[in-house]
Amino acid sequence: QGKHSGKHVIRFFDSNTDHHLEDQSRAAQLVREALDNGYLTTLYQPIVSLAEQRVVGFEALARLHHPIYGEIPPTRFIPAAEQSGLIRELTSTLLEIACTDALTWPEHLYLSFNLSALDLQDPDLPERLLAILAKVGFAPARLEVEVTETAIVKDIPLARKHFDALRAVGVLIAIDDFGTGYSSLAQISRFSFDKLKIDREFVSSVCESEKSGKIVRSMIHLSHGLDMPAIAEGIENIDQLDWLNRAGCHYGQGYYFSRAVSAEAVQALLNEAPAGIRAALPAPVARH
Ligand code: C2E
Ligand code: MG
Ligand code: MG
Ligand code: MG
Repeated sequence: QGKHSGKHVIRFFDSNTDHHLEDQSRAAQLVREALDNGYLTTLYQPIVSLAEQRVVGFEALARLHHPIYGEIPPTRFIPAAEQSGLIRELTSTLLEIACTDALTWPEHLYLSFNLSALDLQDPDLPERLLAILAKVGFAPARLEVEVTETAIVKDIPLARKHFDALRAVGVLIAIDDFGTGYSSLAQISRFSFDKLKIDREFVSSVCESEKSGKIVRSMIHLSHGLDMPAIAEGIENIDQLDWLNRAGCHYGQGYYFSRAVSAEAVQALLNEAPAGIRAALPAPVARH
């Protein structure tokens, strides 16, 4: 009992505890256990073209369901895997799951996959990812990888080398959580990204805060100027959608359209509304 009792769940993941090191090794054990026993899955959140409200792809979002501890969020187990040297194996496992699921989707839909900061520091990253795609039979041109600013700055030359190798075979690179990391503008001037994901933090207050509105408008303007379509994260209501549409934002995702759903539910979501999720949504907002 004790060690696996429900009480530990709280302490186990409390980063402010005195038992930080103990927690860390427990977290590592848990990731190890999840990898060995297949407790990992990925859910998929649709990415929608805002003008037509059609699904263009899905972002894979990792989930860990533990039989004793229950659902453990990726914001907990990804750092645990990073700290315990298991992130490589975790990323590879998740990518294989996601590509296998995505194989069953209509061919025009892409898969967007989050990379960890440590993945970018792996000298063999492109080879490792491409080997998984080849094994599954998933076309590199249907894959987009999401990286954060914070991840890139750890080793800029290596990141550039990886992006070049991946883009050479058709993989697209998106900068995730744009605006929240380190020196956002420096990063987009150093690299060519294919997409820019505007962080939810900015999107959520776009209708209430004039300042947020101005910032998001500038980001969209920047994305147009640099030929790097913007994806707004965390669209939760029609007012935000309307605002973003009028500001000329190309793509978006968020609870307004759909939460992340299981692989099985992806099929249902696409089947119920053959033209993406358009049928399930209000008519598109006219551009002003
Ligand atoms: P992210 O890549 O920025 O993913 C967006 C997060 O926002 C997801 O949380 C998603 O479920 C949530 N979200 C989407 N729409 C809305 C909305 O309208 N409102 C609100 N409040 N939230 C929304 P999730 O799934 O908990 O993932 C959190 C983070 O964990 C991700 O942030 C990403 O950094 C990381 N992550 C998830 N899956 C993976 C993975 O397979 N590999 C790696 N390395 N990181 C992952
Ligand atoms: Mg992401
Ligand atoms: Mg994001
Ligand atoms: Mg975010």
